[in-house]
Amino acid sequence: MKAIVVREPGGLDVLRMEEVPDPTPGPRDVKIQVARCGVCFHEVVTRNGTLRRGVLMPLILGHEIAGTVTAVGRDVREFRPGDRVATAQRSHICGQCRFCRTGMETVCPEHKFLGDYGMNGGYAEYVLVEEDNVALVPDGVTLDAASITACAIGTELNAIREVGRVQPGDRVLVTGAGGGLGVHAIQLARLAGAFVIAVTSSPEKEALVREMGAHEVVLFERGEDFSDRVKAASGGDGVDVVIDNVGSPVFNAARRSLDQGGRLVLVGELTGDFVPLNPAQLFLKGLSLLSAKSTTRKQLQDSLQLIARGQVRAIVTETLPLTQVAAAHRRMEQGRISGRLLLDPTR
Ligand SMILES: [Zn+2]
Ligand SMILES: [Zn+2]
Repeated sequence: MKAIVVREPGGLDVLRMEEVPDPTPGPRDVKIQVARCGVCFHEVVTRNGTLRRGVLMPLILGHEIAGTVTAVGRDVREFRPGDRVATAQRSHICGQCRFCRTGMETVCPEHKFLGDYGMNGGYAEYVLVEEDNVALVPDGVTLDAASITACAIGTELNAIREVGRVQPGDRVLVTGAGGGLGVHAIQLARLAGAFVIAVTSSPEKEALVREMGAHEVVLFERGEDFSDRVKAASGGDGVDVVIDNVGSPVFNAARRSLDQGGRLVLVGELTGDFVPLNPAQLFLKGLSLLSAKSTTRKQLQDSLQLIARGQVRAIVTETLPLTQVAAAHRRMEQGRISGRLLLDPTR
């Protein structure tokens, strides 16, 4: 099969199309013919070497996968060839540990992140994913939408519903509001009954951010501390919850945007940069610093149902053939994409 293989960390030139062996499913594997694979900032930092934890090269990138089942291992019960499926971000969890048993499989010590670990990922014609990490795509949900559901919608459902515990009436700040995560965070925060303030440094994304349901939009220059303007937009005191999709560059502005007792939920923190922080800045305001890392299968299934019922809209900007992977990564690095960009390995 054709696949994009990364043999060593580096720039766009390390993304190489290769002919590699077709994968053969193990006992618990579902073999999926990839129809669409979302392009995530995660793959940029895996490819360029910023992310090292859990990474095994050579590797095939890609974890935002939807497609059709073509074969299953002998122990697979829930799926059969022909099923339309989407995957969570992992190819393997143990299924037995205290995390897997309590809805925290995203931090299973055995988990293998799809596309980080060896020659199995979604930038390819086929991928193997154990059935614990696969979900059926409901009728009426396209494979375009399904491919980005786990990462771009399920992670935000995790952040807003489980980790951030957003309640009706909460004031919520969404950073990176026009990006692939942010556009879905706004929709889910609205669905949870929040008053939503969105910040973005991209004026061209403002219209989309408003269309997603943000009550207030704060446009800022990169590097600017937007916290005073967020406080003003909140009515003066700041917000109850920050859903931060950007990381280090906005960390302190996001923290200062919180009202007393607020919760800062980290969602996409992969820039590799340190931030200055005095712990008293959290303690004296009673702030909580929290993380929502990827998506459980339950959150993936719930997110697919939200799309099927028309309560959340998956925002896909464009679909490129697999051969244009370098262009896709370049645009991801430049932060110019509103919503999500997809790769199509069938073209
Ligand atoms: Zn992703
Ligand atoms: Zn486990």
